Amino acid sequence: MDMGDTNKVLIVEDSKFFASILVRRIINELGFDVDWKSNYADAVATIECCQDDYFVALLDVTLPDAPNGEIVNYALGKGMPSIIFTGGFDGKLRNQFVAWNIVDYILKDSASSVDMLLSTVHRIYMNRDIKALVVDDSKTMRDSIVRLLKTQLYQVFEAGNGNEALEVLGANPEIKLIVSDYEMPEMDGFELIKRVRETYSKNDLAIIGMSAMDAPLLSAQLLKTGANDFVSKPFQVEEFHSRVSHSMEMLENIALIRDLSYKDPLTKLYNRRYFFENAQNFIRQAEEKGRIVCVGMLDIDHFKNVNDTYGHDGGDTVLKEIACLIQEGFQEDSIVSRFGGEEFCVMVAYEQDADVVVHFDAMRQSVEDMVFVLGGQNVHLTISVGVCCAQDELDVILKLSDSRLYAAKEGGRNRVVAQ
Ligand code: GH3
Ligand code: MG
Ligand code: MG
Ligand code: MG
Repeated sequence: MDMGDTNKVLIVEDSKFFASILVRRIINELGFDVDWKSNYADAVATIECCQDDYFVALLDVTLPDAPNGEIVNYALGKGMPSIIFTGGFDGKLRNQFVAWNIVDYILKDSASSVDMLLSTVHRIYMNRDIKALVVDDSKTMRDSIVRLLKTQLYQVFEAGNGNEALEVLGANPEIKLIVSDYEMPEMDGFELIKRVRETYSKNDLAIIGMSAMDAPLLSAQLLKTGANDFVSKPFQVEEFHSRVSHSMEMLENIALIRDLSYKDPLTKLYNRRYFFENAQNFIRQAEEKGRIVCVGMLDIDHFKNVNDTYGHDGGDTVLKEIACLIQEGFQEDSIVSRFGGEEFCVMVAYEQDADVVVHFDAMRQSVEDMVFVLGGQNVHLTISVGVCCAQDELDVILKLSDSRLYAAKEGGRNRVVAQ
C-alpha cells in the first residue's frame, strides 16, 4: 500500500457531535483533509474503494451497525494504520487493543482526549518520514520492537550488534531514532551509544536504551552514557510508544527552535546569528579540503524606491524573490544569509582555479534579467556586489567585501567589485 504522500484522515464515528469537533480541529489545527463516515457499511465501502487516500483511520469501536469493533478488525485486516476511540477503559478491552496492533487507543471520557488524538495523528503523519534503527542480538526481541515501530509507521532498520548498527547508521545518516539493547556480542549498547554520540548529539538523534527490570542500575548507566531515555524489559506497549513519541517530539521542538533562531522569517534564509556562529567552522572545513573561501556582500540598488513606490509589501515580495534567486545561485558548499534590510552575505568555498567573479557576476546578471510584478507593473532591479577571497581573519574578509560593495555603489551600482 502506498500512503507516502496522502494527507487525508478517515473518521468513522456515529456521534455527529464528536465527529464534527474532530473534523473541525483536524482541519484547522493540523491542516489535513478529512472524510467522515457515520456507520460500518459506509466506512467499508469507502475503504474498499479508496483506502490509499488515507494515511490513518480514526475508528469508533461501537457503531450502530457494528457494535463490537468490527470496523477495527476490518480496517486492520486491510493494513490501515488505525487509531481507536472508545467510551470506556477496562483491562480486557485494553488487551484486545494491544493485540490488534493499532497505532493507539484514545478514551473519549476525558476533556483532553481530542488533544491527544490530534497529537497522535500529527505524530503518525510525521513518522512516515522518520528512519529508526533497532539494535538487539535477540531476533525475537528485535522482531517485536520492529513491529511496534512499524505500527507507528516509522521506516525501520535492524542491526544485531553495535558494529552492525554503526554500519547501518553510516549508510543512513538521517536516522533519528535508535532503540538499543545493552548486552550484545562484538559491541554492546554502551559502546554503541558512546560512538554514536561522537557524531550525533541528543538533539539530533534520540537513543532509547533497553534495560532489564532486575538490573535497576543499568537504566541510570544508559542515561549517563548518552541515551535520551530507556525502557525496562518487559514493558507495556503504551509505555514504549509514549517514550518513543516524547523523544521524537523533543527532537522536532529543538529543530523548530533552531529554525526560528537561525532563520530570517521573511526570506527563510539564514540570519546574521547563524552566519557568525558557523562561518569560522565553514572556513576551517574549506581549508581542510584545500578550497578557497570567498565572501560576497550583495545589496539591492535603490531598494528604498521600491518601498516608496509599491509599498512595504511590494518591498517584501522583492526581498523574497531575490533571496530565492541567491539561494539557488549558491547551492553548494555555501552559507547564504540575510545580513539585514536588503543586504545579503554569501560565503562560498571554491576550488582553487574557480572563476569567482564570473559566478557572482552571473548572479548580478540574473537579478538584472528578472521581472518583478508589483502593483500590476513590470519592475526591474539591480544589485551591487562586493567580493573578497582571502586567507584572512573573518572580520578582515567581511570588512574588505563591505568596502568593495561600497565601491560598487560609488562606481554606479549594478556591478561586482572584487579587488
Ligand atoms: P542603495 O542603492 O544605496 O543601497 O540604496 P537603497 O535604497 O537600496 O538603500 P537604503 O539603505 O537607503 O534603503 C534600504 C531600505 O530597505 C530602507 C528600509 O526601509 C528597507 N528595508 C529594510 N528591511 C526591509 C524589509 O524587511 N522589508 C521592506 N519592505 N523594506 C525593508
Ligand atoms: Mg459510537
Ligand atoms: Mg540597497
Ligand atoms: Mg543596504
